[in-house]
Amino acid sequence: MARTIAVLAVQGAFAEHEARLRQLGANVVELRQAADLEQEFDGLVLPGGESTTQAKLLRELGMFDELKSRIETGLPVLATCAGLILLAKSVQGTGDLAHLDPTAAEKRLAVKGLGTLDVTVERNAYGRQLGSFHAHAPLAGREDEVPLTFIRAPKITQIGSGVETLVEYDGTPVAVRQGKQIAVAFHPELDPDTSLHELFLSL
Ligand code: GLN
Repeated sequence: MARTIAVLAVQGAFAEHEARLRQLGANVVELRQAADLEQEFDGLVLPGGESTTQAKLLRELGMFDELKSRIETGLPVLATCAGLILLAKSVQGTGDLAHLDPTAAEKRLAVKGLGTLDVTVERNAYGRQLGSFHAHAPLAGREDEVPLTFIRAPKITQIGSGVETLVEYDGTPVAVRQGKQIAVAFHPELDPDTSLHELFLSL
């Protein structure tokens, strides 16, 4: 069972994840610079935020290659929203950047992420005005529904054969699992329900 969890803490909604993990009895270490990777940890959280900025910071701070290789060799990961975009093999869509000229939009969209999860996502695919909303849907293998808080969320438009859907909303997977990677389009850290964090800690 994962016990000490590293939370990427360079940008975005990391504090809320840390609170949830501590609530469930896990130790938390923050990843802010390459030296932080020397700490012992057996799980990783990639929080929501701005995926372009996060991908850039991961590279500039010298954490990109090591995290990629640790995920590829089985480090359990919980990735939410921008974190899902960072893990996705393919990232598409102009979403709310449609107002920019194509070159500017392309630049802003260019998320060169870790690419360890066999899914295609479309950024900001729920639109600008309707980008944030709340819903409920069942989590695979559980009776109760889980709350889904979407904030300018990416849409999972394609999944590979080795990827399992954990939660489906409106005909689209919004939480998926591939081996020890769990990735969700919504923000479980913002709701009191801890099912997703519990599932992650049990990997
Ligand atoms: N829209 C953000 C992005 O594309 C993700 C939003 C979020 O993490 N809540 O990176």
